Amino acid sequence: MITFDGVSKIYRDGTPALEDITATIQPKEFVSIVGHSGAGKTTLLKMLLAQEKPTSGTVMFQDVDVHALPNSALHHYRRKIGMVFQDFRLIPNKTAYENIAFAMEAAGRHDDEIASDVPYILNLVDLSTKANHFPNQLSGGEQQRVAIGRAIINQPDVIIADEPTGNLDPINTYEVVEILKKVNELGTTVIITTHNKGVVDAMGKRVITMDRGRIVRDDPQGQYIL
Ligand code: ADP
Repeated sequence: MITFDGVSKIYRDGTPALEDITATIQPKEFVSIVGHSGAGKTTLLKMLLAQEKPTSGTVMFQDVDVHALPNSALHHYRRKIGMVFQDFRLIPNKTAYENIAFAMEAAGRHDDEIASDVPYILNLVDLSTKANHFPNQLSGGEQQRVAIGRAIINQPDVIIADEPTGNLDPINTYEVVEILKKVNELGTTVIITTHNKGVVDAMGKRVITMDRGRIVRDDPQGQYIL
């Protein structure tokens, strides 16, 4: 589904960020990308999102060369990918319900779809009772679960979560990991970057370890080893 083929990236200022990355991610996989700060994890995700172009190599998504897409097609392409960020990025003056509904409105979905899908997703992320709470009335873990709800509401093929538990305590981390596992079990490919050994070890899924722009390990049922 996703193939990085010989991808290298040297930023304009001469910084090397990726060196000859080759990896394939299959539909419905759960992949953790680990590595020290500066290893190239975020750059790799940016390649997939077509936010940065590779210096050499190709990134294919469902047989489409992502970096050959015209600008006019990028918006449509990025809808296949749901994003979750370390800092949640919710709209502060919208409730949990409205934050998720807003993503559907932005995608041009009809009111009746919104009225049926948002409660379903709120239930999936275990927040039915907090639908009318604003972000500042929710714990960090709850805010991240709203963000996951927003990321999946338009049924993307893949969820990318960049350090999703980076700002969370262990209990909230556990809750967020459980939701990501559930989303994956329902059929969505999940790619996360993380520094959290506990998250990776609890998952028992594929672990790609990066170091200085290279993949140094790729374990089908890996553990966090740095
Ligand atoms: P990670 O996500 O693993 O911390 P990054 O992909 O952010 O790693 O960074 C990889 C390398 O690329 C680092 O040396 C970083 O300083 C550099 N880098 C990242 N973004 C840029 C940029 N926009 N311009 C120049 N160098 C960058």
